[in-house]
Amino acid sequence: MSSPQKEAFSAPTSISHAAQGQAPSKNLGVRYNCAQCGASFTLGKTDSIRCKECGHRVIYKARTKKMVQFEAR
Ligand SMILES: [Zn+2]
Repeated sequence: MSSPQKEAFSAPTSISHAAQGQAPSKNLGVRYNCAQCGASFTLGKTDSIRCKECGHRVIYKARTKKMVQFEAR
């Protein structure tokens, strides 16, 4: 039997890893093209919807080639 105290000591610390900017996972990662400068980049669900190069908020979805416009909050 495992003591409940042992469980409290093993705390998962994978939250800080998300801020390291590693390669995007296959699950989250949609390829976009900027409508302003034409730069191609990948955005995840947690990423801000805007161009990583110029910061423009009108971007194209690369896969569907359909224009997707995101309004700024
Ligand atoms: Zn851009």
